This record gives sequence, structure tokens and C-alpha cells, in this order.
Amino acid sequence: MKIVHTIEDLRTELLIWRQAGETIGLVPTMGALHDGHMSLVSLSREKTQRTCVTLFINPKQFGENEDFNTYPRNKKDDAKKLKSAGVDILFQPDSRVMYPQNFSTSVSVKGLGDVLEGQARPGFFIGVATVVTKLLIQSLPNIAFFGEKDFQQLLVIKRLTRDLNIPVEIEAGPIIRENDGLALSSRNTYLSPNERIIAPILYGTISQIAEQVSRGAALSDQVNWGRSQLLQAGFTFVDYLSIRETETFSEAKDISRPARVLVAAFLGKTRLIDNVLI
Ligand code: AMP
Repeated sequence: MKIVHTIEDLRTELLIWRQAGETIGLVPTMGALHDGHMSLVSLSREKTQRTCVTLFINPKQFGENEDFNTYPRNKKDDAKKLKSAGVDILFQPDSRVMYPQNFSTSVSVKGLGDVLEGQARPGFFIGVATVVTKLLIQSLPNIAFFGEKDFQQLLVIKRLTRDLNIPVEIEAGPIIRENDGLALSSRNTYLSPNERIIAPILYGTISQIAEQVSRGAALSDQVNWGRSQLLQAGFTFVDYLSIRETETFSEAKDISRPARVLVAAFLGKTRLIDNVLI
């Protein structure tokens, strides 16, 4: 596995494969890799001939009071995992490579990027959209892979790719979970042993909502029930709990069209997000 740190080196390597007619898959990550990330790597290896993983903790998607400085960093182990998974190239730029002096452009996906996660974390999707646009243009893969774990992010990325005519296919991978249902996340390492016991209730609650709603329960009743269920279980704050139509991301009135239950909640200082299809 090659490891490159500059855009020039990345482009040189990828060009060789592209000119040989090989297809390229891209898996963007912020590192501290777990089986959720690795499932996207496997998907890319199945669907394309060459896989490029990027590891960049993007400062632009962290708010002032968020965990940029303490976000888990595990470069050596990450590289080992990727190498043994058969990844062809790892792109590991630093901030000066991604954001040179006087960097002044940003990508903003209006509407879709302003609700739920975008409302709870102002600037988050601008940071995500800007870095993903850059990564896509830098590498020009055939397919880029993103997890349904960050479902709204997936929609934001699909939208910007379409709006900006970036010639890349966006493909989604399913959410990978622990045996007790907790969605894998690099931030799960923040949980205390007691919080780790409570954490799966997040998935339990949205799964129950999905089941009740599909049996005919009123959506608003279920959302209210879910909020109080989480607070009772020990979650400290519910940022949002919402049922949205999968296609438009507008609030679902009923389930005549495909919909998802999406949630973000704090357990102590740790912010967890999850979603399920109804
Ligand atoms: P991150 O390193 O958190 O930016 O995540 C990189 C990619 O991995 C994103 O496309 C995430 O949606 C995806 N991802 C993170 N956790 C999971 C999970 N539990 N299952 C599937 N994909 C995931």
C-alpha cells in the first residue's frame, strides 16, 4: 500500500491506474478506523479495481466547542488495518495541504444542510461539503463510498455531486453495529463503562419507533415517546429525533413513502447519532 501526503503525489499515482483503464474507489475517513469504515473498504474492493482511502481529520467540520483536539487519532494502526485489507493507496494530507494560506472557498448545500445535524452543529455541513468536494476533485474516483450511519451527510454529498456536476458515483454502505445494536463510531471510545451500557438504548428506541409506526402508530406520538424514553434511560439531551422522508428529507406526515427515523443525543459529553429505515 502506498502512502501519499500531497495532492500531486495522489494524482500521479491515480493517473497511472486510470490510464491503464482500472476503476478507482474512494473511501473518505477521519481515521480511528473500525469495522464500519472497513465495510466501506470491502465494498470498494468488490466494486472497483483500485481502492483509495483518505484519512484527514477535517478541522472545518468541528465547531468551536467540539472535540477536534481530542478526536481519536491512531495513524499507525489505521495504516496496518488498511494494508491488510488490500487498500492500494492511503492519502493522508495535513491541514496546510488541504487548506493553504488564504483558502477562502466553501461549499454550502442550502436547505438539506441546514436542518437536523446542520441546525444542531452550525457550519458542520459546510465543512463536510467543502472537504468532500475537494477530495472528489483531487482523486476523481469512479465511485465514492459513504456510510448510511451519517444518513443526512450522504444526502448532502449526493446533492453536491449532482449540483456541481462532479463525475463520480456516490454509493452507500449499511450501518455496522455492535452485537447489542450500538452503531460503531470512533467517538464510542469516549463512553464510560456505565454510558456504554446505556448507549444501545438509542438504537433500541428508534427501532421500536420504526416498528410502531409501521404498525400504524401516530408519528408525532412516537417521536414524543422516544424523546422521553431516551431522557429516562440517562441520555442528557436530545438534539433531535425526527422522522423524515428518505427522498426529500422533508418531515414525514405518514409512511406512504420511504422514511427514516433519525436521532442525535448526548450521553454525558458524548454525542451519538443513529438512524433506521422504517
Ligand atoms: P468518519 O471517519 O466518521 O468521517 O466516517 C467515515 C465514513 O465511514 C463515513 O462515510 C461514515 O458514514 C462511515 N461510517 C462511520 N461509522 C459507520 C458505521 N457504523 N457503519 C457504516 N459506515 C460507517
